[in-house]
Formats: sequence, structure tokens, C-alpha cells
Amino acid sequence: MHFDTIAIHAGYNPFDHFGAVNPPVFLSSTFAQAGPGKHQGFDYARSGNPTRKALEAQFAALEGAEHGIAFSSGLGATDAIIKLLNAGDHVVCADDVYGGTFRIFDKTYKRLGLEFTFVDTTSVDNVRAAFKANTKMLFIESPSNPMLKVSDIEALAKLARSKGALCVVDNTFATPYLQQPLSLGADIVMHSATKYLGGHSDVVLGVCATKDEALHKRIAFNQNASGAVPGGLDCYLVHRGIKTLGVRVERSCDNAEQIVSYLLEHKRVSKVYYPALTDHVNHDVASRQMKRYGAMISFEIDGSVADGEKVVSGRQVWTLGESLGGVESLLEHPASMTHASIPRELRLKAGLTDGLIRLSVGIEHVDDLIADLEEGLASY
Ligand SMILES: *Cc1c(COP(=O)(O)O)cnc(C)c1O
Repeated sequence: MHFDTIAIHAGYNPFDHFGAVNPPVFLSSTFAQAGPGKHQGFDYARSGNPTRKALEAQFAALEGAEHGIAFSSGLGATDAIIKLLNAGDHVVCADDVYGGTFRIFDKTYKRLGLEFTFVDTTSVDNVRAAFKANTKMLFIESPSNPMLKVSDIEALAKLARSKGALCVVDNTFATPYLQQPLSLGADIVMHSATKYLGGHSDVVLGVCATKDEALHKRIAFNQNASGAVPGGLDCYLVHRGIKTLGVRVERSCDNAEQIVSYLLEHKRVSKVYYPALTDHVNHDVASRQMKRYGAMISFEIDGSVADGEKVVSGRQVWTLGESLGGVESLLEHPASMTHASIPRELRLKAGLTDGLIRLSVGIEHVDDLIADLEEGLASY
């Protein structure tokens, strides 16, 4: 079956629930038992809930996995995954992972005895050189934020396997519609479902999936043991969001391509970062492993932090905000928002100039999006 069909039908049978075409939202924390230990698959809602089960099965099918697991946030998923390791183990991690991922690795798990090396994972040689005898996990994110660097998942998964380490891919920016890391050899794929999977900026949730039964059981143990589980209503919202993932991503990519063409022609725009562009540093890898190039764009104006702030402020259609992946287009200015806490010198070194602006392109009419950007670019 094709992706869009799987998204709508996988993992749920209406006839298990009176023919209801949507999974019911189960709001029970506990389940009645006919006798001690005699229940219908659910006993306590941290361990399992039928709405969550429907979402987990639907998501797993989209990633080509046997097993999916849902969490109360993307970081809840990351936390359950990193806890597969033991004190003394070493992790090679992308140096531009999501800030919250870096924080929990650097501030929490380092303290608990894990070791981390952060490297540019767009170079396989770099990653190979970072491996040590005790390396047990390679954690990557592709495309990355906000420079949209793309790592070669197939080559990196192969490298990790040859070294006996697990390869974990944060697939939030690409979505399973554009890229399926497990089919490229990764062991675990995870998402902040808060972004494209939910798609409507109304829920915080995380998911991960694997093809490996033993690995699945260990992550499920962590899910139940630590308890970062989503409620029934949140699972329902993501389940519903996923049904339109394919059409939303297609429309967002169409819009993004037109906006990139517009920006390339604009005299105040000095650089556009989008993996479809042949001058993008990882264009070839992106073409190989992604169906389309996604709907995240970063671009630079030759201006100060204050100029960047002017461009993003007071827009009529674009919402100024962090996060991404919703039906509404968002824009943000890393130097004064998401990356403001990084010292300027380090920020510039990573390519995050004062005038860098990041777009998450939604599904509004593209002419309105471009007209609003035009006003922003004339405002400083
Ligand atoms: C938002 C995000 C996360 C964290 O997910 P939450 O749902 O906010 O906990 C992880 N990775 C990426 C790439 C993200 O964008």
C-alpha cells in the first residue's frame, strides 16, 4: 500500500469499536479486570491505552517499522532512547542537534556517566574518527536546524553497525513522508510529533520506532518505567494529524520551492539555504535520500540583529514563533530568538549570522506568504 493509504488506515480497525471510523479517545487511567490479571490487554494507562496503541501502530507503519512507541514529548522519546545505554558508554552526536537534545545529553546524561562527542555528521570521516572503543550510539538529525545540513544516513548507519553501535535518527524535519531512516539502515527513528506529524500546533508529543523486537522491548520498558506517556486526547490529535501528513507536506514543499525562487531573486537576500539548491553543501545526499527537500528554509540578509528583528516583526500572515511543521507558516530570527544564548563568535562560526532568518513554510496560499515577506524585507 502507498503512504497516504497507510496513514489513514494502518493500525486501527473500526469494527473493534462499534464501527467508529476514528479511534475513541480513552480517558481511563485504569481498566476493569474480570479476575486478577485477567484483562483485555490494558490494565493501567501508563502501561497502555487503546488510543495510544492506535497511534503507535499507525506511526510504526509509516516508518516501515514493526513497533512504534509514543511519549509525552519528543524529548521524552530521546530520554527513553539514551537510557538504553549504561554509565561509561560513549555517544557520537551531531554538533547541530536540537538544543533540547544537546541540553539533556550535556547537562543530565554526562553527569550520570555517559560520554559524548559532538561532531559535524555531514562528514562520514569525521564521524568515523570520533568513534571510540566504548561508543555505543550514533545520534544524528537530518536535515538539521537552522542550516539544513543533511547527513548521509545510509553511510552513517553502516558505519555504526560495523562498530557495534546503534544508529538513532531524529527525523522530525523530514517526516516519514520524505525520508525513512530505518529503510536506510538506522536502528531507531524518533520524532517530535509536536511538529509535522501533529501538524496543527495544538499538541506536544514524541514517537520512536524500530524494526528490532528486542530493542523495542527495552524502549517500551523505559517508556513504562519512566512514565513520559501521552494522554489519550493528545494521541488522538496526532493520529488525526498524521492522516493528512502526505498532502500537507506536498503543499508545504510546493510553497517552499516557490518561496525559495522568490528569495533567490531578491536583492536584499544574500544567501538561501535549502537542500534542493545545487549550491547547498549536501545537495547530492539530500537528492539521494529524500523524496522532496522539505519545507524549512533559512536565508540571510546583509544586516544587523536589529534589521533581522524588523524583517520578522509585525508580519500579517507569517507567525513569529519558535517551533515548526504546522499548517501555519512560522518565521523566526535565530540570533535574537532560538540561538540568542550562544555567544556571537560561536554563533557566527556555525553560520548563524546576525541577519539569518528561518522559515517553516505552511499551507497557506503562497502568494500571500510572498507578499508578506516582501513587506518584511522592505521594512529596514
Ligand atoms: C522540537 C524538536 C525536538 C523536541 O521535541 P519536543 O516535542 O519539543 O519535546 C526534538 N528534535 C527536533 C528536531 C525538534 O524540532
